[in-house]
Amino acid sequence: MSKRDYYEVLGVSKNAGDNDLKSAYRNMAKKHHPDINKTPEAEQTFKEISEAYEVLSDQNKRARYDQYGHEGVNSQFGGGGFGGGGFDDLGDILNSFFGGGSRGGQRRPAGPERGSDLRLDIELAFKEAIFGIEKEIDIQHSENCDTCHGNGATPGTKISNCDTCGGVGQVKQTQRSLFGSFTQVGICPKCQGAGKIPTDPCKICRGKGKVDKDKKLKIKVPAGVDAGARIRVPGEGDMGERGGGPGDLYVVLHVAEDKDGIFERRGNDVYTEVSLAYHQVALGDEVEVPTLEGFTHIDIPAGTPTGKVFTLRGKGVPFLGTDGRRKGDLHVLINIEVPKKLGAEESKLLRELASLHKPTNKSSKVDKNHKNDDDSFINKLKNKLHINQD
Ligand SMILES: [Zn+2]
Ligand SMILES: [Zn+2]
Repeated sequence: MSKRDYYEVLGVSKNAGDNDLKSAYRNMAKKHHPDINKTPEAEQTFKEISEAYEVLSDQNKRARYDQYGHEGVNSQFGGGGFGGGGFDDLGDILNSFFGGGSRGGQRRPAGPERGSDLRLDIELAFKEAIFGIEKEIDIQHSENCDTCHGNGATPGTKISNCDTCGGVGQVKQTQRSLFGSFTQVGICPKCQGAGKIPTDPCKICRGKGKVDKDKKLKIKVPAGVDAGARIRVPGEGDMGERGGGPGDLYVVLHVAEDKDGIFERRGNDVYTEVSLAYHQVALGDEVEVPTLEGFTHIDIPAGTPTGKVFTLRGKGVPFLGTDGRRKGDLHVLINIEVPKKLGAEESKLLRELASLHKPTNKSSKVDKNHKNDDDSFINKLKNKLHINQD
């Protein structure tokens, strides 16, 4: 998963000063804090914002980030635990919303907390979504550190009460904001609310108890999925805090257009267009049409008008969960091709043909209406399908 640029996340320029950073962070945090913003992306966005701020607001980390990018600062955090970042400010922000003081006191010390869910977006080829596929995906999530088994202490060393909070996991903080000062109880910044800290922090995870791991996973994409579908992979999110289990991974599917430009999909129905010569529709013909699974033949009756749609039942996209027993339809739109260049012989024959036709201007009231209907239907269909007429 590629991370967004921290400056971009906060919407500030590369040479933004402390105050710019702070105010950008506060504005963004207000907008995206999951307590305030109930959209599904809020939590992820908020995490991104906190992480960006935690790095950019620290001179050292910022310098490393500027020089080495994300690589330069990731190792600093070991387990990707950005939760504590900017807590003071956050308390402040929430106070300004909720009148202050209401956030403390619910945990003493903090109990296990389930890890965050992760989101991974992948794009499927047009037919992969239709027929289903097993995909290998690369993810990065945090896991318990193998060396310390998640407790953050070098094996064999002691874990003692946190000296900052005396083991309760919380500290009183006085905050000043635009609305006056508040005393509030916040999570202890040293032990992150656990109340205990290792006397000799594990070297591998720097006492976090968690490490970021790259992992390959296989997921099964069922036949018939459409864009926007999510596949939940239980337990593959980030590891939780203080013994809380991992979150889940959500793989969000995007579906590419048909790369050959032959099919368009709407739900479980598929549309295609077949161009035929005038004589084929005038006289009738048996023609080959593409389907999702190769070609088939359809009979074109004599006198088929342009814009006619033939529907092949059950030749569309499988409905999810029916094991391919139920499928949508394939709609074949007939388009009459008018030759752009004619040979001498063709021109001659067409002129002869033309001379056989009586002028139909007068008698065509009904026909004309009918034709208009057809035209508008084609147009509607074309608009719907975004098929370009050349
Ligand atoms: Zn460790
Ligand atoms: Zn503490």
